[in-house]
Order: sequence, then structure tokens, then C-alpha cells
Amino acid sequence: MKKTNKKYCLLFLIFLILVGFLIWIYYHNNFVNRKVTNQRQKKDPEIADQIKQQNQNNLKEQDKQAQKPLKQTKRSKNNDVGPNKKADNFTWPIDQPKKRITKKEFAQYITRENSPIENERFRGFHTGVDLEVFNQEIDQPTQVQACCTGKLVYKGWINGYGGVVVQSCEWQDQSILILYGHVKLTSVKKSKNDLVKQGEFIAFLGQDKSQETDQERKHLHLGIIKGEKIDFRGYVQQESELKAWYDPVKIIGYG
Ligand SMILES: [Zn+2]
Repeated sequence: MKKTNKKYCLLFLIFLILVGFLIWIYYHNNFVNRKVTNQRQKKDPEIADQIKQQNQNNLKEQDKQAQKPLKQTKRSKNNDVGPNKKADNFTWPIDQPKKRITKKEFAQYITRENSPIENERFRGFHTGVDLEVFNQEIDQPTQVQACCTGKLVYKGWINGYGGVVVQSCEWQDQSILILYGHVKLTSVKKSKNDLVKQGEFIAFLGQDKSQETDQERKHLHLGIIKGEKIDFRGYVQQESELKAWYDPVKIIGYG
């Protein structure tokens, strides 16, 4: 009996130890969980602080960026002036314009009597400028290049010019038309509505005193018409009518 009691006592002790161990595990786990939670709670404010800090930084950044567009708007306005200025910065269709505009200037009143051209057949105020060719160019192909970037709106044969090409461009937010007169039509590769870029080849000048120039000397008549309606007139009879054109020298300048 004594031995049996001892066995029971031992078993009971083991049982108690096990129970105690389980209880310890249970409380220990609780304790660890609480500790972790506490740590999280401790950390959370830190994270919250960090987020707060980040938000503040973001706000500061947003403020900076909110200010930036203002500056950029100012800058882009300036930039707008840049490209516009560039777009407005037309170029001459043939080089050395100053040396070429020697016979007929814009608004010059031409008569048979005062004309620098022999056997003048026109009379009136000149609506454009005439760019002459140099002697050595008479028999050489002479390229005409676009003054600006814009669509080709007309190409055809017009009495008094021979071949004519008209290009639509913008100048200072206004629609204008560039008329290139006395050109060789068969050399015009672009079609109506094709975009012609500034400096791009448009045509060769028509051959001297040929059908290509309607029997005129080899030269380029350059007209700049205000608006979008083509006015083919190279001369007007009233000076006041000239207001429908711009002086190419004033638009393009001599640089
Ligand atoms: Zn002319």
C-alpha cells in the first residue's frame, strides 16, 4: 500500500508540475502578447509621428509645388514668348535679301514711266517685295524656301505671276498668307494642305521671261497677306488698300 501511495504521490506531483508548467506557459504567452502590444502601442505613436512628420513634409512639398506652378507659369509665359518669338521669327525665302530687294519695295508706286523694269506692264502700289536674282543665277536653279511653318493653301498659274504658291502661317497669333510669285510650278512637290516647314524647299524660281514667270524677269515676288483670304493682286490702285498686306521687310527684317 505504501508503495502504491508513493506512486500516486509521484504521479500527482508530475501532474501538478505539468499543470503548473501549462499555467506558466499560458501566463507567459499573455505576458509576451501584452508586451508586444505595448511595444506596438509605443511604436504606433512613433509611426504616427513619422507619418505626421511625413505629412508635414508632404504639405511643405505641396506648398513648394503649389508655388512652383506659379513660377513655372511665369516661366512658361516667358517660354511661350520664346517659341512664339521663334515662330514669329520668319526667314527670307532666298538668301541676301537686302542685296536682292533693289527694284521694287513694298508700297512703292510703280508706273510705266518710273519703273526700274523695262516695258513695265503694271501700275499701282506694290503689295510685296521683289527679290532679284544675281547675274550668275539667271541660268542656275534658284531655290525658294518657306518663310515660316504652315500649310500650302494654293499652287497654280496666275496671270502676271506665272507660277504661284501660297502658304498659310501665323504671325503674332494672326493668320497670314505668304505669296511666292513667279515660281516654277512643276518644281513644287508639296500638295495643297501639305505642311511646309520653315526653311523647307518650296519651289525653284521660274525661268527668266518664260511661261513659268508669265514672261517676267526671273525674280521672286513675296507678298504677305493679312487674314486667310488669298488676294493675288501684286498692285493696288489706292494706297489705303495696302493695309491688307504686311511689308515683308517689317515682318522678317534684315536681322
Ligand atoms: Zn512684285
